Amino acid sequence: MSRIAVAGTGYVGLVSGACLADFGNRVVCVDTNVEKIEALRNGKIPIFEPGLDDVVARNVAAGRLSFETGLAGAVRSSEVVFVAVGTPPADDGSADLQYVEAVAREIGRAMDGYKVVVDKSTVPVGTARKVRDWIAEELAARGVDIEFDVVSNPEFLREGSAVQDFTHPDRVVIGAEGERARGLMKEVYRALYLNETPYIETGLETAEMIKYAANAFLAVKITFINEVANLCEKVGADVQDVAKAMGRDGRIGSKFLHAGPGYGGSCFPKDTHAMAMIGRDYGEPMSIVETTIEANDRQKARMVEKIEAGMGGAGSLRGKTVAVLGLAFKPNTDDMREAPAIAICEGLAARGAKIRAWDPEAMKEAAWRLEGVKASLEFAADEYDALDGADALVLVTEWNQLRTLDLDRVKALMRTPAFFDLRNVYKRAEVEGKGFSYFGVGR
Ligand code: NAD
Repeated sequence: MSRIAVAGTGYVGLVSGACLADFGNRVVCVDTNVEKIEALRNGKIPIFEPGLDDVVARNVAAGRLSFETGLAGAVRSSEVVFVAVGTPPADDGSADLQYVEAVAREIGRAMDGYKVVVDKSTVPVGTARKVRDWIAEELAARGVDIEFDVVSNPEFLREGSAVQDFTHPDRVVIGAEGERARGLMKEVYRALYLNETPYIETGLETAEMIKYAANAFLAVKITFINEVANLCEKVGADVQDVAKAMGRDGRIGSKFLHAGPGYGGSCFPKDTHAMAMIGRDYGEPMSIVETTIEANDRQKARMVEKIEAGMGGAGSLRGKTVAVLGLAFKPNTDDMREAPAIAICEGLAARGAKIRAWDPEAMKEAAWRLEGVKASLEFAADEYDALDGADALVLVTEWNQLRTLDLDRVKALMRTPAFFDLRNVYKRAEVEGKGFSYFGVGR
């Protein structure tokens, strides 16, 4: 059993804290957001993440998990302190480390004995050493000499299946220097370590690089199939079949080969930008990553062009009502950071369309993230309400309930039956058979 503090109680911090408690550790989760901590103390989970409520409730009841707004006490009562605060993109595309620095300095001001400080946030190569310097500066300012280690332990969980991913990871990566820190990290992850989860020990810089390289690679893979899809449209091929056949090749694999409106979310866009920036800083351009970023932006814009072309060409969207179904950046999350739906709604509004939008979980997020187009936007009560009187249906996020729409009911509700399936969920023949015009991506 380890005594752990987790700074930052967002998607990563809360899931990590709750699951580490479930592994038998004693965990204090800390956040500066007082409302979040109040909600958690009242048994409410501030984000939508399947299964997380049970893990939190179980571990709170067992006395292993608690929530605080102050970091100092949590640091003093723990031997391992996780840093899981946000690292959003700064204006120049690099990762903004202000929250990581604030936490590191706070740890330095509070610590009273040996600590392992664990970078769980996704941070540029070299950050672990910066964290060490920030803490050391605070210790020097206090005139005390306390031993500590910094560890890089990047997180690979996916929103929507975060609990399952954290408790059954493909691998645990620990970048550390020194046996004491390595030993303590094995204790923290004892439940996984004993379970023969691949446990990869590296140096600090390597662990930091692994996270960026993995995310950038996945972003490249998605973007590659999106470009193949665009070419398929021109040559009369079907990207679904191309991807299926490609994916059967064990060297390629079938995951992340689904053509669509471009990647979004809180990780791929910012991590690709940050990796490109690191490449530029070190004079080793990440040219494939740079191109991926551009191609992904084009893909989002292309979706709006596709809808306009499908509706009759330039000017055809003026005054039309477009039902946008699914707003979260992917199913099973309420997260809308960099969601393709944002760029698509902005593009539709700029062309004079009226938008009726709906998502099962992201409506609260959408209310402020789509603030820029609110004059053209109405939120619907459900998917069918969104379609009432619509001229076009645009399926952006493939929630399960949007995979099984009652097409007869949809057709009866819509003014003109134009179906833009940006996730290639439906079969063209079936949709056309019901009297719709059907537009997929790359088919
Ligand atoms: P988030 O925005 O959901 O949560 C960050 C939390 O940190 C917020 O609740 C914020 O109030 C809190 N915070 C900020 N400053 C603080 C401070 N000084 N002390 C205590 N709390 C503070 O972010 P997230 O999605 O959980 O991401 C966190 C990190 O993990 C990022 O670096 C991200 O790249 C990485 N990551 C995210 C995912 C994901 O799917 N979301 C997956 C892997 C890695």
